[in-house]
Amino acid sequence: LTRIAFLLVLAACADYAIFDPRQPIDVTPINAWTDGELQELAAATQCWNLAVGIDFRFTTSPSDAQRVVASFNDLECLGTDLGQYTAGFDGNISLCPDFTFEEERFLVMTHELGHASGIRVEGTRSDSIMGQKPSHGALFGEPLFSSEDLALFAAAQPSFTPMPACKPDFFRSDTGSYECRCD
Ligand SMILES: [Zn+2]
Repeated sequence: LTRIAFLLVLAACADYAIFDPRQPIDVTPINAWTDGELQELAAATQCWNLAVGIDFRFTTSPSDAQRVVASFNDLECLGTDLGQYTAGFDGNISLCPDFTFEEERFLVMTHELGHASGIRVEGTRSDSIMGQKPSHGALFGEPLFSSEDLALFAAAQPSFTPMPACKPDFFRSDTGSYECRCD
């Protein structure tokens, strides 16, 4: 009986792990990151902020109550996915360091941040960040998020009205990293 009660408590806690999108969510890289990888993670947070009006804050000094940490982990490469999000008191993004093409790492980061925003399911479309886009690739000058991505977010956060700044397009930045831009 004790064990069953314990499991029920764990299940209840999992519900609380969906962050409140009205409050800031710190996103912090831990262990070794290159400058390019740091730029990509920062850009991925910005893309979601523009697309749905949440408040991801890329920071190496987290100070807000809601926090996500992100790290590279060789073990992540053993599975079929290149990244994984684990909900918890702090959210945890684990990334495989070996990517098959250059922008895939940025796209996988953006996908995992989608899970951190509350989306707990996978998309199905080839043009969805939450679907196949991380493995298919994205086109410069095209919207980064599909209508399916936006619908999945709205369904995951039913009491939050998305406040998009725009429908952000995917671009390469002046520094050679990736970014989202509003037209
Ligand atoms: Zn996923």
